[in-house]
Amino acid sequence: MFDTFETAFSEMRRCVSCDLKNGRTQVVLPSGDKTSKVAVIGHAPSGTDDATGIPYTGPAGEVLEELLFKVGLRRSSLYISNLVNCWPWKDAGGTLVNRPPVALEVKTCTALWLQREFSLLQPKALVCLGGQAAQHFLGKNFKITESRGAWFNLPASSPYAPLFDTLPKVMAVLQPAYLIHLQQHAPESYAPTLELLLSDLREVKRVLETA
Ligand code: SF4
Repeated sequence: MFDTFETAFSEMRRCVSCDLKNGRTQVVLPSGDKTSKVAVIGHAPSGTDDATGIPYTGPAGEVLEELLFKVGLRRSSLYISNLVNCWPWKDAGGTLVNRPPVALEVKTCTALWLQREFSLLQPKALVCLGGQAAQHFLGKNFKITESRGAWFNLPASSPYAPLFDTLPKVMAVLQPAYLIHLQQHAPESYAPTLELLLSDLREVKRVLETA
């Protein structure tokens, strides 16, 4: 029987395959266009995403939508997912705050779900939000400060490679949340960083329109 997104998401919703099942409100299902040529991949859902069940719905999601709007892209024209689909958090003095997922959580979730998503979607381009997502696809030596905005071939040795009829290109862009950080802590860097993000997203738009 053919696999479908509906089947995959229905199973994903009930997934208890790693420890992130313990602290979640719900599985944060991928969102957007299931026929898009571009898959946007973040690192992990936030606490807001955990509450809504939709990736990139918190402050970082608002920034992402604003950036997409500025370059003439609609969020709904992209497929948006994460390396892990449940919120990784830690207790910081009684407040639950985001933490990066550990390697085993990423390995478990991507092997079960992201690989299956890619098999179904067959994207022509992967856009990684942030360095950690980019390193997952392009290797630990990838440095977002040096190589953001450039297209790379997905390595043929990648565990994802056999899933694709045609290997997708991979690009990393800065995390939208980084702009929020700059606004608060380094406002002089905000405008030039915003320009970098917009320029990279214009390139994503070009690929979306021509792929
Ligand atoms: S993070 Fe992924 S593998 Fe872990 S419980 Fe959630 S959906 Fe399952």
